[in-house]
Amino acid sequence: MIELPEAAVLAKQINETVVGKRIKKVIAAHTPHKLTWYFGDPREYKSLLAGKVISEATSYGGQVEITAGKAKLLFSDGVNLRYYNEGEKLPDKHQLLLEFDDGSSLVGWVQMYGGLSAFPEGKNDNKYYLIAKEKPSPLSSDFDEDYFRSLFDEGTPRLSLKAFLATEQRITGLGNGVLQDILFNAKMHPKKRAGTLSAADQQVLFDSIKNTLSEMMAKGGRNTENDLFGDPGAYKTKLSKNTTGQPCTVCRALIKKEAYLGGSIYYCVGCQKI
Ligand SMILES: [Zn+2]
Repeated sequence: MIELPEAAVLAKQINETVVGKRIKKVIAAHTPHKLTWYFGDPREYKSLLAGKVISEATSYGGQVEITAGKAKLLFSDGVNLRYYNEGEKLPDKHQLLLEFDDGSSLVGWVQMYGGLSAFPEGKNDNKYYLIAKEKPSPLSSDFDEDYFRSLFDEGTPRLSLKAFLATEQRITGLGNGVLQDILFNAKMHPKKRAGTLSAADQQVLFDSIKNTLSEMMAKGGRNTENDLFGDPGAYKTKLSKNTTGQPCTVCRALIKKEAYLGGSIYYCVGCQKI
């Protein structure tokens, strides 16, 4: 899934590789996929995008936005976004293929579920998109200690830290993937109640959010996700499907995996306390 570090890396790579290219061919909704969310009718994407020049890519939380003339393209959740040079083999299945006038292509396809949209600038009223644009990125200076403390309100004491940090888009771009190492580094269990955190604990968690996300971004994203060229990121996840059953790097206890709140959680039974 695209989360904050991967969205930032994809936007950077698109700016370096795709900006300035003119869209020659557009194929949208080529492979039927029930859990691909489009904005509007994908059959209209061709007239919206053909002939336009890619001018910029930015990321909002876990979303990547590309500007092409007066149109915007938006990618989120489980979209795979890849760049191919002319002559490289393109994937057979995809939900959006853009071919540029130099023969290179940008292809997007969804694995489990994901959003893949094109729309005229200013026309997308999807609330997840608007929230992601509005809220401060956890890596921005607006996301400071006071802002973080303000997220602990009357509705949150009974929420687990997983629910508190990684649902409702409370913190934009922080999903169930990056959550695992944030809590590991803070030595807190995903099921620990948000209301049990002392002021000192809140500070530890705040620092872990900033430090963990910065490190993931600096290393080109997590090794469980691929970048624009199909290469995994160089950030080695401490807790993920890759490390389940392996000894914890700190205390040597085994990393556990468990189903919780519609997804997997990973934790070290030695380090992370409820
Ligand atoms: Zn441990």
